[in-house]
Amino acid sequence: MTFGTKVEARTAPEVINDIPALRRAFGAARQQGGRIGLVPTMGALHEGHLSLVRAARADCDHVAVTIFVNPTQFGPREDLNQYPRTLVADLELLAGEGVELVFAPDVGAMYPDGFSTYLEPPSVAAPWEGVHRPGHFRGVATIVLKLFHLLPADIAYFGQKDYQQCQVIRQMVSDLDVPMEVRVCPTIREPDGLALSSRNRYLRSDEREQALALVRALRAGQHAIASGERQAAQVERQMQDVLTEAGIQRIDYAAVADPDTLAHVTTIAGPVVLLIAAFVGQTRLIDNLMT
Ligand code: AMP
Repeated sequence: MTFGTKVEARTAPEVINDIPALRRAFGAARQQGGRIGLVPTMGALHEGHLSLVRAARADCDHVAVTIFVNPTQFGPREDLNQYPRTLVADLELLAGEGVELVFAPDVGAMYPDGFSTYLEPPSVAAPWEGVHRPGHFRGVATIVLKLFHLLPADIAYFGQKDYQQCQVIRQMVSDLDVPMEVRVCPTIREPDGLALSSRNRYLRSDEREQALALVRALRAGQHAIASGERQAAQVERQMQDVLTEAGIQRIDYAAVADPDTLAHVTTIAGPVVLLIAAFVGQTRLIDNLMT
C-alpha cells in the first residue's frame, strides 16, 4: 500500500519509521493532488483518536496518522516509561479506518544526537497545565511543529479533550504562519461520561468509578452557570466539592477560564471553559466542558 492511493477498508496502512522515506511518500501523495489530513497521536489508540481519523477521512482525500510518544513533553517524574505502547493493535485499528500512512518514528529519528532547538510556546500555554507540567507545552509545540514540517498536510486534527493544547497549537500556527488548518473535534466519552484517554488503562476498577467524578464536577459547574451563578469562585467550589466527595484528594485545578485566552475568569459574563486536572490514584486525568 502506498500513500496517495485511495484504500479499501481493512487495507493495512504503509508504516514508515524514517524521515527520508516519509518525505518520499509524502511527495508522491502531494503529486497526486487532493487534500491531506494529519492526525498526530501518541498511540494507544481509542475511539477518541479514531474520531479524529474519521473526521479527516470525511474531509480529505488522504489521511496520515503519526504515532510517537514524545519524550520532551513529559516531566522527569511523569509516566513516560509507563505510557502504553500498543503499535500492533494501533495499526490494526487504523487499517479498519482507511488510513494510508502511519509515521511511527523512534526517539532517535525525531531527536538525533545534538538536537537542541525548542519552540517557546505562546502565552496561552502559561496557566493550568503550564503551571503543573512545566515544559510540557514546549515539548508539545516543538514536536507538533516538527510533524507539521515533516507531514505538510492541509488540515491537522486535534481533540477538544486537550483543550489548552488546541489553543496552544492554534496560536502557534497563527503566530508562525504555518500553512496548516487546525480542526478541533469534540471529546469522545464512554456511555457513562468518562472522557476516553490512553491513561484510563492505568485505572483499577474502583479508580475507574472515582474518575467519573471529573465529568460529574464539570457538569455540576455547567449546571450552576446555567442556573445563573456568575461568581467563578462559587462554581469552582462546587466542582471541587464533587471531586473531594468522590475521594479525589489531589486536584491540580478545577477552574473557570476564558475559552480563547484561558485567563482565569472571576465574574462570568459570557462563554467560559471549565477545566479540571486531578489525580485518581497515581493517574493524572484532565477534562473540560464549555458553557
Ligand atoms: P494523544 O495520543 O493523547 O496525544 O492524543 C492524540 C489526539 O487525540 C489529541 O489531539 C487528543 O486531543 C485527541 N484525543 C485524545 N482523547 C480524545 C477523546 N476522548 N476525544 C477526542 N479526541 C481525543
